[in-house]
Amino acid sequence: MARLVDFHCHLDLYRDHLHALRACEEEQVYTLSVTTTPKAWPRNRDLTRDTRYIRAALGLHPQLVGEREAELGLWERFAGDARYIGEVGLDANRDHRSSLEAQQRVFERVVSVCEEQGGKILSVHSVRAAGMVLDMLDSLLTRERGKVILHWFSGTSSELSRAIDLGCYFSVNRNMTMSTRGRQIIAMLPEHVLLTETDGPFATVDERPAFPTDVAGTVAEISRIRGTEEGYTAAVIWGNAKRLLQDSGE
Ligand code: MN
Repeated sequence: MARLVDFHCHLDLYRDHLHALRACEEEQVYTLSVTTTPKAWPRNRDLTRDTRYIRAALGLHPQLVGEREAELGLWERFAGDARYIGEVGLDANRDHRSSLEAQQRVFERVVSVCEEQGGKILSVHSVRAAGMVLDMLDSLLTRERGKVILHWFSGTSSELSRAIDLGCYFSVNRNMTMSTRGRQIIAMLPEHVLLTETDGPFATVDERPAFPTDVAGTVAEISRIRGTEEGYTAAVIWGNAKRLLQDSGE
């Protein structure tokens, strides 16, 4: 049976994170719990040590790099223990453009460490910076050393094609199904790179924080956009998630 997949969720940031963890386990939603700072990693790693459906990722969020570039050393110290890396990437939106050089230093180091260590799966943020993100991935990470999932992708059509050629996956959330551009991207994705996410609790559904089980609604919307049956879409997404995990040795 196909399971629901939430490949980008900040489980540790829900007000009642233990409830969120338990719900993912009970509902058997395969969830990648990304972290925003390496300081939050040990706790997230420990919380997910015995979970069946939840994995924790080690991150340094590009929007926090302006204040926390110094935590890169801590990120590097933990990297050997982490198969999943995220949230990492670049954000060139107005609010974060001033730290773009620092973000590039951090992301370059993160991708280089993934290349050195191998076997990594990365959840990557690329707001207004898809071209730069793809340049770095293209020059620093070989496909055999790491799998990349572009989270909430919003680049141009040519950036999308380039990302597909580079072997990237795409985690699609509810917000993307509600914008014209997001729907175009969803319609263009080849099915073997399609994944789902919530980006909860930051992203919302019906004006409340999105919850991992909400990916069921996203699967329904994706199916409507792509003209496929929901059961089929869910099976494709679960198949992609399984292949990713197997390729990384799980
Ligand atoms: Mn996020």
